[in-house]
Amino acid sequence: MSHYDFIVIGAGVIGASVAHHLAALGAQSVLVIERGTIGAGTTSQSSGLLRTHYSVRQNVELARSSWWAFNNFAEYVGDDEASCGLVKCGYLICAPEGDKLDPLRASLAAQQDMGIEVQLLDKGEAHERLPIANFDDAALIGFEPEAGFADAYLVATGFARSARRRGVKIMEGVTVTGLVREGLRITGVETSAGSFSCGTLISTQSIWTPELAAWIGMPLPVKPERHTVLALECEGAAYSFKMPAFKDLGSAGMLYYRSYGGSQMLVSEGVVGETLNSPETEQGQISLDYVAEVGAQVAERFPAYEAAGLASSWTGVYDVTPDWNPVLGKVADIEGLVVGFGFSGHGFKLSPGIGKILAQHALGQPTDVSLAPYALERFASGALLVGKYGSGAVS
Ligand SMILES: Cc1cc2nc3c(=O)[nH]c(=O)nc-3n(C[C@H](O)[C@H](O)[C@H](O)COP(=O)(O)OP(=O)(O)OC[C@H]3O[C@@H](n4cnc5c(N)ncnc54)[C@H](O)[C@@H]3O)c2cc1C
Repeated sequence: MSHYDFIVIGAGVIGASVAHHLAALGAQSVLVIERGTIGAGTTSQSSGLLRTHYSVRQNVELARSSWWAFNNFAEYVGDDEASCGLVKCGYLICAPEGDKLDPLRASLAAQQDMGIEVQLLDKGEAHERLPIANFDDAALIGFEPEAGFADAYLVATGFARSARRRGVKIMEGVTVTGLVREGLRITGVETSAGSFSCGTLISTQSIWTPELAAWIGMPLPVKPERHTVLALECEGAAYSFKMPAFKDLGSAGMLYYRSYGGSQMLVSEGVVGETLNSPETEQGQISLDYVAEVGAQVAERFPAYEAAGLASSWTGVYDVTPDWNPVLGKVADIEGLVVGFGFSGHGFKLSPGIGKILAQHALGQPTDVSLAPYALERFASGALLVGKYGSGAVS
């Protein structure tokens, strides 16, 4: 049986980032096992938004270090040819009078306290940045210049390429089917290509984490939740790359927006989606009623979009935990196992930072950001990681 010091299950953006960071931090023998192809799981469905706006402090810290990585991606992975497809357009967020106003005010103040550049805009200034939107009802508007969006597939493959260049072996088209154990210690994996032994196993299986739960005989709190993304086109009201990504806390769907392809608008909801009975990334049905319902909210904020056309639409699946924040680190008293799952629709923007702290933890090094708040035990102890906005992808 071949032996590796570290085996990573899954080559999504999280697993690829873990592999890159393990190698960059000095790990000598690392194997990544991916059932499909690199980045083809839920990563390929990501909207790609990057921001540091969170109300959970640890998320802000991870998002900030991750932003640096996205903004300097070639340098970060040590590859002049690497690109993450960053569009640095900034991030605008607004709330009307009501229950989201105080959380927004507090989150913007917390970001500023942490040294993040955040500007408070009046309606006119917001309109200058996003002239196709109407801010009549806005009671508070924040703008984060160091934000935007990038391409999650490019990031996953960029991390994977860097990992390979540093000696990591990545096997695609291979499925992990079970674990090899000695008492409480995981010592390897069984796969469709045979068994491999390891010192430490790192599972980054996203919506497929229930497979791990079955192997260890312990429930893990994550469910697959399908979300819909629409691309709209509106003649005379192009959502250009120069316009900021936008979060509308005043809309019923807590909608988020960004440019999609230079003139189209990408829009999706930031609220609870459709819970699936089993983990699958197949495309779901998108009803015309749903399109009309979201379209009506879009037209309230972007009046010209009353006449918008639907350019395309797709669904993607979040791995959602009860408090919409990830589980990172150990699982109970099982030795040799590290997990990173439950990114609940906001894992891409954290992926460089998460990959680094999971790698540090697996290597027994101090972690840049504490894993303690993300521990699995919080669901039993009740110390949930709920942000000021309640449960949701803003967190
Ligand atoms: C519609 C949508 C929009 C999003 N928008 C944003 C956004 O704007 N900003 C943001 O920050 N985040 C966003 N996210 C979330 C972000 O994309 C995810 O958190 C992130 O991509 C998850 O990466 P991952 O590596 O954990 O999962 P995945 O990419 O799903 O990777 C898991 C991998 O594990 C493999 N695997 C599982 N089990 C096995 C096994 N037994 N054997 C071998 N391989 C296995 C799978 O094949 C898969 O490739 C969005 C997500 C969706 C769905």
